[in-house]
Amino acid sequence: MKAEKIQYWRAFKLVAIVSFFAGLSASLSTCSPNISPIEEILATGELRVVTRENPATYSPNNGDPIGFEYDLAKRFSEYLGVELNIYSTSVSQALLDIENGRAHIAAAGLSVTEARKLSVDFGPNYQEVTQQLIGRRDRKHPKDLNELPYYKIGVLAGSSHLERLIQLRASFPDLNWDAQKAESTIELMESVRNENIELTIVDSNEFAVTQRYFPKLNSLIELSDIQEIAWAIPKNSTELQNKVNSFFTEIETSSELDQLKELHFGYINSFDYFEVTSFKKNYENLLPEFRNFFLQAGIDYGIDWKLLAAISYQESHWRKNAVSPTGVKGLMMLTNNTAAEMNVVDRTDPQQSIDGGARYLLKIQDKIPERILFPDRLWFALAGYNVGFGHLEDARILTQRAGRNADLWSDVREFLPLLSEKEYYSTLRFGKARGSEPVKYVENIRDYHDLLIWLTRNENMPVINDEELSEPERKTLFQILDN
Ligand code: GLU
Repeated sequence: MKAEKIQYWRAFKLVAIVSFFAGLSASLSTCSPNISPIEEILATGELRVVTRENPATYSPNNGDPIGFEYDLAKRFSEYLGVELNIYSTSVSQALLDIENGRAHIAAAGLSVTEARKLSVDFGPNYQEVTQQLIGRRDRKHPKDLNELPYYKIGVLAGSSHLERLIQLRASFPDLNWDAQKAESTIELMESVRNENIELTIVDSNEFAVTQRYFPKLNSLIELSDIQEIAWAIPKNSTELQNKVNSFFTEIETSSELDQLKELHFGYINSFDYFEVTSFKKNYENLLPEFRNFFLQAGIDYGIDWKLLAAISYQESHWRKNAVSPTGVKGLMMLTNNTAAEMNVVDRTDPQQSIDGGARYLLKIQDKIPERILFPDRLWFALAGYNVGFGHLEDARILTQRAGRNADLWSDVREFLPLLSEKEYYSTLRFGKARGSEPVKYVENIRDYHDLLIWLTRNENMPVINDEELSEPERKTLFQILDN
């Protein structure tokens, strides 16, 4: 135990120190005034992107980053043929880093505002949002803007939200707020939840994603018209601007941009307060007993353990003795036949059920045509598992008949529900099916998976390998560790 603690502390120190070096190298490598950003990117082979940590933009996810902005930035670095170096900070620091040349691009869900245009340029608009006033659903809240001065509003310093409040003050002179120096609106949402402030402001796209993590919060009033979201780039860097423009034209034309939006925002439609609250309770009370089995199966079969746990939650709500009226059983709700096929002897044994379920997931994924890639591949596998592959194939035929893309989950998902209508199923090989069920099934699993990513976000600090450090870095490191 003691050794473990030391290991942990050592890992923590290493992370802190490596972050220090990363910060140092970022601050040292500011653009030289004689060289344009694009020249620097190509000469160094590195695109430096500043972002903001938020489930809607970028999450480090224990060293395996995810997020809409991360995916866009990654693709842009590939488009340029260079490495991506991404780091996160606050919105105001991100803009400063563009001004002083510390980063080449700010990909941070930034709103285009007139004030910002004075100090940075913007790439093409790739998303539209409105600003939402957020408060606790169980507390008194303003009915309209006239009542705002009676509430304690916390707003992110340097944000477009603050700019909006300043504009609003022209019409509501008593309007008051507290500009908070936080890294992200997540901290402000936490403050509203904990009742340190009564209201805050969050962009609509971010609230759609993060509301699931704060079931007590609600959107009360829309505070702005539609605002455009775009990347910030250094002023007058024409070549970089041209590259950014052509990159966005390309991903728009190929519908890659739409697919990324679908991946990160598309499925988030059904927010259920009670569902999220009971998920959190089960996460605390039931999951710990099985967690290591999910982790182990994840390692054994190269699947994210949180995904396996999400499937299991959808199947059994993490009840090891769950039984359905049709006779499926256990944490992963295997049928008798599936259990036999996977050599699972006791379906109510958590380890056997999880292990068998994980192997079965891989097996059903293999049935999906190879050209269909992750994540669509996974959604198809899950849907096929739920409704049967024949019916899934029928829905793909309907998709094709309508001139849509039968290899994209976002298209096929629209046609699955038609399998219950005679006009459609009578023309298909496998006949009638309750096609809206697999759609809901996949959506739920994606939701549970996101919730697990969120709830485990502060665990498992990555351990850095000392051997990757340069000699001076290692020297400093050991000096610090010895203190
Ligand atoms: N779009 C907001 C801005 O540009 C984002 C702020 C935030 O949510 O952190 O300031």
